[in-house]
Amino acid sequence: MSKDFPGLLKEKGLKNTPTRRAILDVFSADCKPINAEYIHEKLKKSDINLVTIYRTLESFEEAGILKRVSLNKASSYYELAANHHHHLICTNCGTVEGFKECDIGDVSRKALKDSKFQTVSGHSLELFGKCKKCAKA
Ligand SMILES: [Zn+2]
Ligand SMILES: [Zn+2]
Ligand SMILES: [Zn+2]
Repeated sequence: MSKDFPGLLKEKGLKNTPTRRAILDVFSADCKPINAEYIHEKLKKSDINLVTIYRTLESFEEAGILKRVSLNKASSYYELAANHHHHLICTNCGTVEGFKECDIGDVSRKALKDSKFQTVSGHSLELFGKCKKCAKA
């Protein structure tokens, strides 16, 4: 995936500010969900405060630049939305692994059948369990 963040901000109708670019730069294309505290730590040399980071993450989520990942943790974790994938999450040590398998069509059809809903526009899927190391211990 390209790192054309100024282009991405423009496409989503958000002003290209140094703060927004700095926050986006912390995100990588790899599967690594991160939270506001992590970004704050990475950007500690600049004086971007935590509240600004929270607000920016929320506006990025609204604009569809970021996707929130449910890790069953108190704080919100995000990833770049452009790279669609799902997660296996170890409930013991917190290891997160991405996977691309996305066979959601059948599930969507079943969910829509006899429901009040007409269409499905997106989804997120996280699988919880134990990694091999924790399962052995
Ligand atoms: Zn991921
Ligand atoms: Zn584990
Ligand atoms: Zn999917």
